[in-house]
Amino acid sequence: MHMRRRLTPPSYIYPLINDWLIVEQRYYPRFMAQTETIFALGNGYLGMRGVFDEDTPAAENGTFINGFFEYRPLIYGEDAYGFPKFSETMLNVTDSKIIRLFVDGDSFDLSKADIVQFERKLDLRSASLIREVVWETPSGKRVAMKSRRLVLFRRRHTAAIAYEVRVLDTSARLTLVSELAVPEIRAVDETDPRRAQGFRGQVLHPVTQQVNGNRIILCHNTQQSQMLLACGMDHVLNTECEYSVDTKCRDDVGAVVFSVQAEPNAPVELIKFISYHTAVDSSPREICFNADLTLDRARRRSFDGLLGDQREYMEAFWERSDVQIIGSQDPPTQLAMRWNLFQILQASARTEGTGVAAKGLTGQAYEGHYFWDTEIYVLPFLIYTSPRLARNLLKFRYSLLDKARQRAQVLGHRGALYPWRTISGEESSAYYAAGTAQYHINADIMYGLQKYVTATGDTAFLYEYGAEMLVESARMWVDLGFYSERLGGKFCINGVTGPDEYTAVVNNNYFTNLMARENMRYAATTVETMRNEAADSYSELVDKTDLKFAEVLEWKAAAEQMYLPYNERLGIHPQDDDFLDKEPWDFAGMPAEKYPLLLHFHPLNIYRHQVIKQADTVLALFLHGHQFSAEEKKRNFDYYDPLTTGDSSLSVCIQSILAAEIGYMDKALEYFEFAVSMDLADVAGNVKDGVHIASTGGTWMAVVYGFGGFRDYEGRFSFKPRLPAEWEGLRFPLTIHGQLLEIDITHETTTYTLRKGEGLTIRHEDQEIQLIPGEPASLPTTPPKTP
Ligand code: BGC
Repeated sequence: MHMRRRLTPPSYIYPLINDWLIVEQRYYPRFMAQTETIFALGNGYLGMRGVFDEDTPAAENGTFINGFFEYRPLIYGEDAYGFPKFSETMLNVTDSKIIRLFVDGDSFDLSKADIVQFERKLDLRSASLIREVVWETPSGKRVAMKSRRLVLFRRRHTAAIAYEVRVLDTSARLTLVSELAVPEIRAVDETDPRRAQGFRGQVLHPVTQQVNGNRIILCHNTQQSQMLLACGMDHVLNTECEYSVDTKCRDDVGAVVFSVQAEPNAPVELIKFISYHTAVDSSPREICFNADLTLDRARRRSFDGLLGDQREYMEAFWERSDVQIIGSQDPPTQLAMRWNLFQILQASARTEGTGVAAKGLTGQAYEGHYFWDTEIYVLPFLIYTSPRLARNLLKFRYSLLDKARQRAQVLGHRGALYPWRTISGEESSAYYAAGTAQYHINADIMYGLQKYVTATGDTAFLYEYGAEMLVESARMWVDLGFYSERLGGKFCINGVTGPDEYTAVVNNNYFTNLMARENMRYAATTVETMRNEAADSYSELVDKTDLKFAEVLEWKAAAEQMYLPYNERLGIHPQDDDFLDKEPWDFAGMPAEKYPLLLHFHPLNIYRHQVIKQADTVLALFLHGHQFSAEEKKRNFDYYDPLTTGDSSLSVCIQSILAAEIGYMDKALEYFEFAVSMDLADVAGNVKDGVHIASTGGTWMAVVYGFGGFRDYEGRFSFKPRLPAEWEGLRFPLTIHGQLLEIDITHETTTYTLRKGEGLTIRHEDQEIQLIPGEPASLPTTPPKTP
C-alpha cells in the first residue's frame, strides 16, 4: 500500500477527554486551516466553517448554502461538441458568524492576544461548537469569554450564537460588533484542480437591505443562475450593565454595535439569531419576509430552547446510528468514528431538494458538486439509519431526470445519462476523460435505489419515482453498448472511464459492465413486477416513458450477454480490455512526495501504466459480492491491491472491507484506521479544503460491512462478523424494514436484538435466524481465518 502518513494532531493540544468531544486546548495557528474544517457546523442546508467568531484570524472562511450556486464559464483552449459550457459553483455566501470584541478600544484577535486560557470543543451530543478563552488585554485586564455556536437541525434556516463576556476583577468599556458581511472574492488557487475555481468579480449583488431595531436583513442575488439569498440577524443582549446600541447597514455589510459599561464579573451575553433563505422563483420581498419570520421564531424559542432541541435531535440520531468500538488499542478511534458519522449527518440531514456535496458544506473544493459519492458511499449509512434522508436524496435524483434525458440526447444516446458532477442537474465536468466518461454514475444511482428499496420495502417509492429512472437508465445502457462480433456476440461497452481515474476512456471497464448489467436487470424485473402486480403504476410508467414492453427484452438480452472478461492465466477480472497489457508503475522508485500522482504527472503518463487511483474492480467485488467465489475475490484483491495508490479518499474504506472478508485482518484494520482518520489526521493532506464526505460514509461501511460482516444481497440480510483481534467488541444498530436491530459482537458471541419491530429473518454465518422482539439471539462468533 502506498498510503501517506497520518498526521495525528499532538495530544497536548488535542487531548482525548471523552469519546464525544473533539477538543483543542491551545490556539494553534499551524492547524488553523484544518480545524476550520474539523469544527465546521452544518445541517445539510446551511454550513459554516469553524472560523473564530471574531472573523480574524482565519485561514479560509466560508458559509455555504447547499445548491446555492452561480454559473462559471468553462473556457477550453480547444473546445469540442458536447463539452459543458458552464460549471456550477457553490458560492461562499454572506457571513453571519462575526462578532468582534473590543475592550477599552483594544480589539480581541487570537493571533495577537495574550491568552491565559483557551479551549475549543465540538460536542457531538449537542452538535454545538463551544469556545472558552481568558484574555489579558494590553492594559492588563483579564476578560473571560465563552461562545457557543449552533446550526440547527430542526430548523434548517436557523443558526445561533451565544457570546458571553465577563471582565474579571475590574470594570471596562466593551464593544461588541455583530456583523453580516458578504465575503470578498479571493484569488484563485490554480495549483490543485480539486479546489474550487474562483470568480474574477463579485458574484453576490445587493438587492435590498432591511433594518429594524437590532435586526438586519441583507438580500442579494446572482446574475446568471438568478438565485436570491436573504440573510438576517437579530440580537438579544442579556446584562445588568448599562449599554447602548447602534446599527449600521450598507449593501454588503450590516452591523449592530453594542457599547457596554461592563462591571467586574458581571456577565454580558449577546445572543445572535441568524437566518438564511434562498430561492429561485421568488421575490426579494418574499424571501426577506421568510428570513424575518425565521428570526421571530428563533427568538421566541430562545438560545437555550434551541440548544435543547439540538440535544434531543442528536440523542435520537445516536440512538439509531451510533457505532461503538469497544476496547480499541488506538483509543481515539471511537471519537473519530463518531465524528465521521456526525459529518454524514451534517452533510445530509436537511438537504431536501438538493444533494450531498463531495465536501458537504464544509468547504468549496469540488465546487459543491454532487458525485456518485452520494449513492455508493453515503447512502448505505442513511438507508440503514435514517431511511427518510436516503429517500430524499433519491427523490432529488429523480428531480434531475429531465436534465439527464437532455444530456443523453446531447451525447447521442437514448434514455437518460446523469451528469458526473453537478448541482442543478447540468453536467459540470470540464475534463471529460475523468468526468463525463464515468457513465457508471447511472448504474451507481440505480444501485443506491435498489439498496434503498430492498432495505426499506418502500415499493411505493420504486413505482412512483424509481421505475422511471430505471427505464431511462437501462435505455441508455442498451444504446451505449453493442454486440461485438469479435468477442463472440457479447455485449460490450466501449469508451468509458470506471471509478479508477488513473485509467481513462477504456473499453469494457469491468466495474461499469457489471453495474450496467445489474442496472438493466433491476429495470427489467421492476417493470415486469409492476406489469403483473401494480397495473395502475405500470400504465402511468408507460405513459411517462412511452415504454414498449419489447424494450424490457432488449435490456434482459444485453444483461445476459454482458461481456465480463476473465483472464485465465491470472484468474482475475481485467479492469478493462487493455489494463493488463500496460507497463507496471514504478512504485518502488516513487518517493512519498510524488503522491497524489495527479498533482505530479501528466494524465497520459499515468494512463499508460498499471496504477490505480481508487478501488475499481475491487469495489465491484464488494458491491455484487454474492456473484464471486471467495478464491476469486482473493485473487483479484491480491492483484489489484498493490497497484492501488489510494490517491482518492474513496479507496481505503473499500479495500478494508474486502481485506476483512478475505481474512487479511491486519490489512483490514490498517486500511480502516486510515479511513476513520482520513480527515482528523489529514491523511490526504487537504482537510483544510473540507471533509471527505464519501470517506466518512465509507468508514461506516468498513465497520458494518467489513468487521460486522453485514451483507444485503438480493433482499437477504446476513452477518459474518470478523472482529479485529485488537478490539474487544463492536456494537451498532441497523434499521431494516422499519425495525431497529442491534448487533453486538465480541470475540466469543454475536448477539442480535430487535429493539423495535415485529420480527425479522437474518443469517448469521450460514444459519438462518428468526428474530423476535425482546428475545436476543446469541451465537458464536467465528474467528477470522487468515488465508
Ligand atoms: C474521485 C472521485 C470522486 C470525487 C469527489 C475524486 O478524487 O476520484 O471518485 O467522486 O473525487 O469526491
